[in-house]
Amino acid sequence: MLIIKDISNLKLYLEAYESKGYSIGYIPTMGALHSGHGELIKQSQKDNQKTVVSIFVNEKQFNSSEDFKNYPRNKGKDYEFSDQYNIDVIFEPTSEEIYKGYEDILKNKNFKNILCDAFRPSHFDGVITVLNRFFSIVNCNKVYFGEKDYQQIKIVEKFIKESYPNLKLISVPTFRTDSNIAFSSRNEKLSKTQLQEFESFHNSTLEFILKLSKDISIKEANILSQEFIQGQGIEKFDYFEFRNASSLDLEGNINDARLFYAIYQGQTRLIDNIIV
Ligand code: AMP
Repeated sequence: MLIIKDISNLKLYLEAYESKGYSIGYIPTMGALHSGHGELIKQSQKDNQKTVVSIFVNEKQFNSSEDFKNYPRNKGKDYEFSDQYNIDVIFEPTSEEIYKGYEDILKNKNFKNILCDAFRPSHFDGVITVLNRFFSIVNCNKVYFGEKDYQQIKIVEKFIKESYPNLKLISVPTFRTDSNIAFSSRNEKLSKTQLQEFESFHNSTLEFILKLSKDISIKEANILSQEFIQGQGIEKFDYFEFRNASSLDLEGNINDARLFYAIYQGQTRLIDNIIV
């Protein structure tokens, strides 16, 4: 496994493989790697001859400097993890390397004012800005994203279509723990009690979805979803609602929907989405 910190070395490495006709898979991450990231890596290794994982905590996509400061980071463990997964290259640039001379922020125009975009204004501007930089550096054939960040996939899909038409986005289903919650770097921030409460909330949500009639509209289901979440004793949540899985709007039958939530356990914001 190679750990590459600077753009010029990464380019040299990738060019050598491109000239051999190798296909390159790329997984952008913010580190604190876990089995959810591992699924993306395994998929890339099946599809490509070389797999590159970037680790970069992108300040531009955080809404508060506090959240950025507190984001879990554990380099030593990440290297061990990457070694176990046989990753070819870890690309771990500094913020200066990525943004010096590239200060402009791109503006996301798609899937605006709903879900995470409504509660984290400019978050997705930061996401496409950093991906634009990384896609121009990591000249890859396929890029892998997790369905856990479903709105992100929808937005990035549009961005890639417009700006990187030769790049193929592969989406990977959410990988879950034995207690059904999604693996997430932010889970590390939870105390034992918070984790148990969160698992219990998530499993009640699964039961709530299972019991719903399949003949109702998304709008009707959302009357019930609001009653449900109000009764859960969750201290703070941003959203808990069904949306059409392809358009992310509120049209259609419940069978076309996913349930999306963003809730807080203490200071930790946890998001997930569930296929109905
Ligand atoms: P992050 O490091 O949290 O920015 O995540 C990097 C990539 O891993 C994103 O495409 C995420 O959607 C994906 N990811 C994170 N958690 C999971 C999970 N539990 N299952 C599948 N993909 C995931």
